[in-house]
Amino acid sequence: AKEQGRNNYQFYACEMEDAIVRRAVLENGIRKALERNEFILYYQPQIDLETKKIVGLEALVRWIHPEHGLISPVEFIPIAEETGLIVPIGEWILQTACEQAKLWQVQGFPKLRISVNLSARQVQQKNLVEKISSILQTSELEPELLELEITESIAMYNEEYVINKLLSLKKIGIKIAIDDFGTGYSSLNYLNKFPIDTLKIDRSFVNQIKNTTDNQEIITTIIVMARNLKLKVIAEGVETVEQLRFLEEQQCNEVQGFYFSKPLTVEGIQALLKQPTWE
Ligand code: C2E
Ligand code: CA
Ligand code: CA
Repeated sequence: AKEQGRNNYQFYACEMEDAIVRRAVLENGIRKALERNEFILYYQPQIDLETKKIVGLEALVRWIHPEHGLISPVEFIPIAEETGLIVPIGEWILQTACEQAKLWQVQGFPKLRISVNLSARQVQQKNLVEKISSILQTSELEPELLELEITESIAMYNEEYVINKLLSLKKIGIKIAIDDFGTGYSSLNYLNKFPIDTLKIDRSFVNQIKNTTDNQEIITTIIVMARNLKLKVIAEGVETVEQLRFLEEQQCNEVQGFYFSKPLTVEGIQALLKQPTWE
């Protein structure tokens, strides 16, 4: 037993070392990844439940590491945030997403909204509004087609500052969505104070639609509340037809999830846009 315990210990120590080494490798790599053009954007469709058409795309970043292959944002975005590298990376993401959205228009695809995730560090960035305006100018994308996704915790942090920043973005015409809605443990007061257009119901609620009626009540309540506040609701993480039917019944506005499509490359999206309706 002692022997085994020891082996286990070594096993864990080794795993931990691996994790530390991997982190160091990632941290150094992130610094060079931008110059080396190793980031790529995937896009996940958002479907209007009335028309069953794709009306928006969420841009989701991936890192194609020369040795480690495809690395999930779950792994490198937190490191990018800690090191501050999320600011230049985030700028690249915004620029690339806006240019791509415009390019799709030029190529004759229907006009689609493009949603881009903003992290806390970006919202705190002093010249964020100027940066985004200039990206919109150079890409020639209509500001109304750009939606920025922020989490509740960002909205709560430094309230006044964030409200003012969001108001400046709204003045340009940009839309604001609250991401992972329902997971922030925050008071709902901010929904009135913040200039928000869209609520994205977190997939942890959508996940459980089949299993427990409690979560169905939560979703129903969020959808009714959003309607009363004149906000659009998008349900994230829709994977099954049961979830879809329930959300249709509740008159949720839009859905996003593996049931319709995983995040896809530019080519994948183009193939999908050629058959843009579902039943
Ligand atoms: P998020 O903003 O909540 O993005 C949605 C995540 O859910 C994506 O994971 C997407 O692939 C996944 N997803 C979509 N539909 C389903 C489904 O039906 N089932 C399940 N299980 N998952 C689904 P992804 O792309 O790995 O991104 C993870 C997180 O990383 C994002 O969560 C976001 O917080 C962050 N992230 C991704 N791209 C960016 C970015 O460009 N900038 C910033 N700041 N953060 C990003
Ligand atoms: Ca998001
Ligand atoms: Ca989300």
